[in-house]
Formats: sequence, C-alpha cells, structure tokens
Amino acid sequence: MKIKNVTIAGGGVLGSQIAWQTAFKGFNVIVYDAFEEGIQNCQKYHQRYAELFIASKGSSAAEIEKTFSRLTYTTNLKEAVQDADLVSESVPENLDIKKSFYKELAQWAPERTIFTTNSSTMLPSHYAKETGRPGKFLALHFSNPVWDANVGEVMKHPGTEQKYFDLVVNFAQDIGMVPIPINKEQPGYVLNSLLVPFLSAAQNLWFNHVSDFKSIDKTWMISTGAKSGPFGILDLVGMQTVYNITMMDAKRTNNPVLFERAEKIKTEFIDKGRMGISTGQGFYSYPNPEYKDPDFLNR
Ligand code: NAD
Repeated sequence: MKIKNVTIAGGGVLGSQIAWQTAFKGFNVIVYDAFEEGIQNCQKYHQRYAELFIASKGSSAAEIEKTFSRLTYTTNLKEAVQDADLVSESVPENLDIKKSFYKELAQWAPERTIFTTNSSTMLPSHYAKETGRPGKFLALHFSNPVWDANVGEVMKHPGTEQKYFDLVVNFAQDIGMVPIPINKEQPGYVLNSLLVPFLSAAQNLWFNHVSDFKSIDKTWMISTGAKSGPFGILDLVGMQTVYNITMMDAKRTNNPVLFERAEKIKTEFIDKGRMGISTGQGFYSYPNPEYKDPDFLNR
C-alpha cells in the first residue's frame, strides 16, 4: 500500500504544522477541523509557515506554490476522509473529544485508511475501540515545531498490526521525520519519558535554593554541549503547561513539595504574565535570552 492522500484532523497548533510539512513533502493533504474558525486559523498559520520557509529554510516560491496547491480545507468529515490513505489526528487533548471524533471517523473512512493519533499524554489503547479498526490504529507523535524538532515517535498499542506500524514508520520518514519506533505503549513516548523527569529535577534544584537557574543551565550546557539548559526549555514549553504537569504530578503523588512548587510557578510567572517565550518573558527575556549570548558560558 502506498500512502498518497493524507487527512489531518484538527487544524490547530500542531495539526497545521503536520499538514504543512506533509504537503511540502509532496502528499495530497486535506485539513479537517470541526469549526470554521479552526480552518481560518489553520490557513493563517499556513501563510506564516510559507513566509518562514522562504525566509529561513531557503524554499523557493515554486515550492511554496506547489505546497499550497496540495492543501485543501473542510469542516465536513465525510468529504475529508472519503479517499484518505492515512488520517493524522490532532484534535484537542481531551478523552471525550478524541473518543467521539474516532466514532464518527470510523463511520466515514474507507476500510483501508490507517488512523494515527498525535496525543501527547493519552495512550492509543484509551480509544482504540472507538476507531473500529484497532489493527490499523497507532500513535504518530510529533514535536513542536515539526520541521525543526523532527522526531516522529511511532508507537503501537497491543492491537496494532506490525504491517501498519512499519508503514507509518516509512511514512514518518517520507515527510521528513526521523522515525522513533516504540514497540509498546509508554506514557510520554521516549522524549517526554526523558524530558519530564529532567525538567522536574532542575526545578527541584531551583525551588530548594540549591543553585540559581542560570548556573543550573550553564552546568548542563557546558557539560553536554546542549544549546539550552532546562530553564531555557521550560520557557519554550510555557509556564501554563509546566504548572499543569506539576499539579498533575502533585495530585498523583500527594507530595506537598510539588503543590508548593506549582504554586510558585503560578505566583511568580503565570499571575505576572511571564508565560515563557510566547509572552517574551519567562525565566529569561526574549527575543534575546541571556543563554544565547556567546559569553554566557564563560562567566
Ligand atoms: P489546538 O487547540 O491548537 O488545536 C486543536 C484544533 O482542533 C482546533 O483547531 C480546534 O478547532 C479543533 N477541534 C476541536 N474539536 C474538534 C473535533 N471534535 N474535531 C476536529 N477538530 C476539532 O491543539 P494542539 O496544540 O494542536 O494539540 C492537538 C493535539 O496535538 C493534542 O492531542 C496534543 O496533545 C497534540 N500535540 C500538541 C503539541 C503542541 O506543542 N501543541 C505537541 C505534540 C502533540
């Protein structure tokens, strides 16, 4: 089976990027969003990505024109999937929304269509039943922005057939991702299984006044050659997400220190509008954070 026609469900932050990248790489792409506003936002994102690709990736006007010619947009799910070889789903991170989306999708998609979910925190088995085709369902998880952080984490659930897993690994490669095969369900995939505890350890050092955040970042950057340290990464992730993850962990473990740490993120950052890169201020100030200064690591 050759994948040619791809439907992206959900035209938000990630869906719009996956759609753009997939069309750029030569596939026919239909963006489906449940809301007209979602479609309009996605089209605005695509104008921005076109400018970005020309300005910073050296794409030609002809390549951009071809990319647009491969993109269509609709709020009609039946039309969106009637000739789809693969559906990549990026609807909101909410179990009820995911379940009802897959139930509806199962009604309209041809039998051959493979379904992939981009969920960051849920496992495919949480809604495999609703897809009506668990063997052809698995996760293909992207990172933001998909063209720079280009790992494609391909993860099975217990019912995924190997043949479709292999097909999606190849597809991920065809759209410019480096495929990361994940053979069994793992909350957080590979990346967040590493990143979440790492960021938590860094926050503990800061919260307990063991060291200041710049020194912690310097230690990491000098010792590993990384371009940023944990606090630079926290600014990229955004303080709302940092707070949500810390609260989730605090509730799961009933650990009072985590509740206090979440509270500090709220009062020192969220309440002051210091949400991270998106608002120009987090631990560092943007667009020129101190850790990007060549002298940062020399003092
Ligand atoms: P988002 O809120 O930016 O976009 C969601 C889109 O889905 C919106 O355009 C909305 O109109 C649309 N939508 C709402 N209900 C729908 C429905 N029933 N059917 C179809 N479309 C519907 O969200 P996002 O950040 O793009 O996240 C989407 C998924 O991608 C989530 O599962 C998330 O975990 C995953 N993801 C996000 C990131 C990230 O950095 N934002 C990274 C990796 C994975």
